[in-house]
Amino acid sequence: MSDCLFCKIINGDVPSKKIYEDSLVYVFEDIAPAAPIHYLLIPKEHISSAKDITEKNSNVVGHIFEVISKLAKNLDLKDGFRVVNNCGENAGQTVFHIHFHLLAGKSFEWPAG
Ligand code: AMP
Ligand code: ZN
Repeated sequence: MSDCLFCKIINGDVPSKKIYEDSLVYVFEDIAPAAPIHYLLIPKEHISSAKDITEKNSNVVGHIFEVISKLAKNLDLKDGFRVVNNCGENAGQTVFHIHFHLLAGKSFEWPAG
């Protein structure tokens, strides 16, 4: 999608601090980190939000969680981490290209506000 910020990050039109990339996903540092480690995991295919996951495209979500597991091992996140997906306005989604926040390096409150 030509007017999507995260599609522009994937194709290099907008700079980002890349952490990991493969044929399906791109991982980069959040520009406004909410924790010592705050990465965004996005599919290379444009999917607007979690409500647009279907039988045809859901494989990428499983793949993203595989990547999260590998990153957690590589980063030695043995004290835990949080994965967040905000879907839609009430959840505070601001970029409408589905993304999963990987947050770590501190302890988190629950339930979230
Ligand atoms: P959300 O509020 O769940 O839609 O999350 C969007 C996230 O994208 C926020 O945490 C922003 O800080 C982050 N963000 C926005 N623009 C950029 C950018 N150019 N590079 C990296 N992260 C960004
Ligand atoms: Zn996009």
